[in-house]
Amino acid sequence: MKRRVSIFGATGSIGQSTIDLIARAPEAYDVVALTGGQNIAQLARDAIALKADIAVTADEARLGELRDALAGRDVEAAAGREALLEAAARPADWVMSAIVGAAGLEPGLEALKHGSTLALANKESLVTAGRLLMDTAKQHGARILPVDSEHSAVFQALVGEDISSVERVIITASGGAFRDWPLEKLHEATVAAASTHPNWNMGQRITIDSATMFNKALELIETHEFFGVPSDKIEALVHSQSLIHAMVGYQDGALMAHVGPHDMRHAIGYALHWPKRAHLPVERLDFAKIGQFDFKAVEHARYPAIRMAHDVMERGGLAGAVFNAAKEVALDVFIAEQISFVQMAVLVEGVLDRLLPDSGLINATMSLDNVRAADHIGRKTALELASKLAQP
Ligand code: NDP
Repeated sequence: MKRRVSIFGATGSIGQSTIDLIARAPEAYDVVALTGGQNIAQLARDAIALKADIAVTADEARLGELRDALAGRDVEAAAGREALLEAAARPADWVMSAIVGAAGLEPGLEALKHGSTLALANKESLVTAGRLLMDTAKQHGARILPVDSEHSAVFQALVGEDISSVERVIITASGGAFRDWPLEKLHEATVAAASTHPNWNMGQRITIDSATMFNKALELIETHEFFGVPSDKIEALVHSQSLIHAMVGYQDGALMAHVGPHDMRHAIGYALHWPKRAHLPVERLDFAKIGQFDFKAVEHARYPAIRMAHDVMERGGLAGAVFNAAKEVALDVFIAEQISFVQMAVLVEGVLDRLLPDSGLINATMSLDNVRAADHIGRKTALELASKLAQP
């Protein structure tokens, strides 16, 4: 029987890698919904090629364009938030959550409410509303499978093991663009330099987040939320080759490391075929050619985001939503060249210092409305602080 699949964020980097895998075996899948944002041409092309039931753009203003691109084809066109939620509610066995940003949360929740297995790439869902997402899955008997490569690695290293025997989880980090720069030079780092990743070819925002390690900070929080491992058992480790994605240490001293290529189709394919393994078109690593693996402790002066992640995990509740919002604003104003590279961390820490002691805000019930409220106040506070930092 064919598996019914939907891809949210189909036009993005993760979405396209997912389509690459599905398009290799069209006989195995019924594509229910594909969604995108601004890239209407790609969305329409893929919806036609994969014979999707419906294509949805998040931008209502572009519905006409999508309709035109799908004219005469047997694919419905729709647009806007309600249409995304309606598409997420359509029966599907497997749903890829690869919308970028906070907009990914609601469709993911909707898919879980309808019992679909959610392959989760959208980091923001777990960081801002981890408990809500996990509780929704539990309540509706739905499953979440991690797609971020580090969490897929932890997931794979945990197969057949008891989580209570886990002593530590090590999430590796490349160290980003400035891992070898002298610390005192970091304040000179430009947007162009921060947008170059030593190992992965990714979008600008996630690449800059690798240079600050805000991306790794989000991943530590994701680990905490998804696997329920406490903050003091989760650590980041610089591993410049980025081939070991994560390691799980057990109480008998064993360490299970997951080694895999720099290709997101590995983690996506694992989630697509889970609990089985299937052939995937990814590079086979040759250890003799790789030669060596390097490791280095995280320097907290270079990467203050890691210290902040532990603070956020320990506070819990809506602290993740505030942190993510502040980080997003810091990134926006850095890209707009209003603040310097090192000021991104100063800005986010300023927001945490101001808002995390507010237990009324942080410990409010984990509902969609309260997540939005924490996100809103995090952004507002960050913008206020940014305008102060930006003053000459
Ligand atoms: P991209 O920016 O490449 O793609 C994002 C997708 O979301 C696109 O389809 C885009 O549409 C769509 N989109 C953008 N804004 C909205 C919106 N407001 N509402 C609905 N859809 C929207 O991101 P990635 O594929 O790189 O990442 C997706 C998620 O996966 C992120 O959360 C990221 O952190 C995470 N992730 C990414 C990894 C990677 O290697 N890229 C690795 C691990 C996790 P369009 O392009 O048509 O405008």
